[in-house]
Amino acid sequence: MAEFEAFKHEPFWWTDPRFQPDSYVQPDTPPKKVDVVIIGAGYTGLSAALTLARAGRSVVVLDAERPGWGCSARNGGLLGPSFHKLGLKGLERAYGKDKARGIMRESLDSMRSLISFVEEEKIDCELVMRGRFRGAVHLKHYDNLARQVEVMQKELGLNAHMVPKSEQHYEIGSDLYHGGAVYEDDGTLQPALLLQGILSKATEAGAKVYGGQAVQDVSGSAGELEVRTKNHSVKASDVIVATNGYTPKNLKWFRQRIIPIRSAVTATEELPPEKIVELSPKLRGHGDTHRLVFYYRPSPDGKRMVFGGRAKDLKDNPREYVAYLGAAMRRIYPQLQSAKIEYAWSGVVAYTFDHAPHVGKIDGVHYAMGYCGSGVGRAVYFGRKTALKILGDPEGRTELDDLPFNSRPFYSGSPWFMPFMIRWHAFADRMGW
Ligand SMILES: Cc1cc2nc3c(=O)[nH]c(=O)nc-3n(C[C@H](O)[C@H](O)[C@H](O)COP(=O)(O)OP(=O)(O)OC[C@H]3O[C@@H](n4cnc5c(N)ncnc54)[C@H](O)[C@@H]3O)c2cc1C
Repeated sequence: MAEFEAFKHEPFWWTDPRFQPDSYVQPDTPPKKVDVVIIGAGYTGLSAALTLARAGRSVVVLDAERPGWGCSARNGGLLGPSFHKLGLKGLERAYGKDKARGIMRESLDSMRSLISFVEEEKIDCELVMRGRFRGAVHLKHYDNLARQVEVMQKELGLNAHMVPKSEQHYEIGSDLYHGGAVYEDDGTLQPALLLQGILSKATEAGAKVYGGQAVQDVSGSAGELEVRTKNHSVKASDVIVATNGYTPKNLKWFRQRIIPIRSAVTATEELPPEKIVELSPKLRGHGDTHRLVFYYRPSPDGKRMVFGGRAKDLKDNPREYVAYLGAAMRRIYPQLQSAKIEYAWSGVVAYTFDHAPHVGKIDGVHYAMGYCGSGVGRAVYFGRKTALKILGDPEGRTELDDLPFNSRPFYSGSPWFMPFMIRWHAFADRMGW
C-alpha cells in the first residue's frame, strides 16, 4: 500500500522557508513583572498579545515549546464561520431564540473579522475565499443539509446553496457523495504563515514572546498574579490562559473542562495541475457530513491535496492516521489510489462538554479555549476579545460571556471515554445516522 511508504512526519506548512517563528522569540529570560502574562503562543495568545501591546500594556507570552507549536501552525487551514455543532434549532432549545441567533451571528463575525484583519495587517498567509463544498455522505444527509442551509439563509443571510448529485462534478471529482452544500464565503489559508503574521505584528508592537517556558502554576488573586515556570516567575495584574487543547494537568480547573482530541493531516506528493483541478474544480475547501469528519483542500501552491480528519489515538501515532486517512482519501478519490502521502502530522484540539467555545475569567485569570476543532477564525477573534476585556473596552463583550463552562463529575482531563465515542461515531457513520 502506498501509505506505508516513507512519509515525513512534520507539518507540510513548516517546509515553507518563510516560516521562521524562532526569529521572533526573545533570547533572554522573562522579566520579573509585567502588566499581562499570556500562557500559550498560538493564535489566541498572540492575537491577545497584539491587541494589548498596541494599547500600551507590557506583555509577556510564555510557550512551553515555541510559537505555533500547538494547533495554530498545524491545522488544515480551512476558514469558515465554525457554526455551533447544535445548529440554530439546537441552540434555541438550549439558550433561547435571541441567544442562539447571537451565537450564530458571532460565528460569522469571527470569520469576517479574520478576513479584515489579514487584509488590514497585510499578512501574507495565502488566504483565498473560494468557498467550501460539504458532501452529503448519505441521501438523508443531503435533505438535512438543505434544511440547515435554508434556515441559515433566512435567519442569518448565509451565502450558501445546495448542489444536487447530478451537478456535483462541478464541485468535486468524486462520486462518493449524494450532492452537498456550497458555503460561498468560506476560505483557505496557510496556517503557519497566519501564525507568523500575528507573531510578527505582536512582537513589533512590543509583546515579548518566550519559548521553552512551560508554565507550572498560576497563583495569587485578581490584580496580583504570579506565573511560574521551572526557572522563572513573572508577576502580572492580568493573566490569560491560551493553551486550548494543550492545556496541561497542572492548570487543573481548565484541563477539567476541555476534552483533548487528536486531529491529523496528510499531504500528498506533488500531483499534476490537471489532477488537482479534476479533484477540486473550483479549488475550494472540502468537508463532508461524516460524524468523524474529513476535511481537505488543495495546497496553496495548487500542487498537493491536503487531507485531514480525526485520529483514533490521543497519542501521536502517524502510522495509524496515515493508514486511516489514506484509506478515506482513496475512498473519496479513487483517482489517488497510487498517490503517495508525503507529509503527515497531527495536533490536539479542545472539545468541550457543551460543544461551545468558552471565554471568561476565573479567580482573576482570563481564558479563551474549546473551539471544538474549528478555531482558525475563532481563536484570533476570541483572543482579541479577551484582550479588550482586560482593557475594559465594551467591545470585548461576546455572546459566549455568560455560558457556564462546566466539567463532568469525576472528569480530570483524561478523556478515557474517547475510544468508545470514536467507535460509536464510526459505527453511526457506517449506518448513515
Ligand atoms: C490537525 C489539526 C487540523 C485543524 N484544522 C482546522 C481547520 O482546518 N480549520 C479550523 O478552523 N481549525 C482547525 N483546527 C483547530 C485550530 O487550529 C485551533 O482551534 C486553533 O489553532 C487554536 O489556537 P490556540 O491558540 O487557542 O491554541 P494552540 O495553537 O493549540 O496553542 C496552544 C499553545 O499553548 C502552549 N502550551 C501548552 N501548555 C503550556 C504551558 N504549560 N505553558 C506554556 N505554554 C503552553 C502550546 O505549546 C501551544 O503552543 C485544526 C487543529 C488541528 C490540530
